[in-house]
Amino acid sequence: MTANHHPTEETLMRFAAGTLAAAPAIVVEAHIAHCTTCRARIGEYQALGGALLEDAGPTPLSATALSDVLALIETDEEDSTPAPRPLAPLEIEGIRLPEALRGCDIGRWRWIGPGMKMSRVAVPHDPDANLILLKVGPGRALPDHGHVGTEFTYIVSGSYTDRFGTFRLGDVAEMDEDVEHQPIVDKDGECVCLAAMEGKMRFKGMIGRMLQPIFGI
Ligand SMILES: [Zn+2]
Repeated sequence: MTANHHPTEETLMRFAAGTLAAAPAIVVEAHIAHCTTCRARIGEYQALGGALLEDAGPTPLSATALSDVLALIETDEEDSTPAPRPLAPLEIEGIRLPEALRGCDIGRWRWIGPGMKMSRVAVPHDPDANLILLKVGPGRALPDHGHVGTEFTYIVSGSYTDRFGTFRLGDVAEMDEDVEHQPIVDKDGECVCLAAMEGKMRFKGMIGRMLQPIFGI
């Protein structure tokens, strides 16, 4: 599987270092399930991070280090539980969702405008995470908005096109606050995307004003 649009190097680096916020980290995780290139880059950054830590010099072992390791080995030997059965795929109304959303609480679809629905995604380990699923009908424009901070969009199904090209399953659009773009869903079907914000969204126009209270701004 390949993707045509990827997160930036900086985002991959922050993901590898564990400093990316929870919502964009879910978008990156969904992407690397489809993108071997970015998965490999993250592996390289993590290896580099490990090497840097090693260079920082040896850490003295704690007094209980040996017994801790032995206890771990013992636990391993006793572990005879059978391998877990594969989990059922995550879905919402027949749409396959990325595994990265497992454990998240996905709200019901809410009508936010003609041909447009939204569902809020609650991330258990970060209650402040700004993450939504958007479902937009064929030929329709995604809500016109600006944002404070970077916005990360992952394509779950269908496709849309803006001046940066066509975005399909597995692609990520990473837009900082200076980027003006108007994605239009391609005519052959609806598009579902997962959108994560690092900052708050600023919607424009009528649909924007309807979305504003949903985002609590
Ligand atoms: Zn990639």
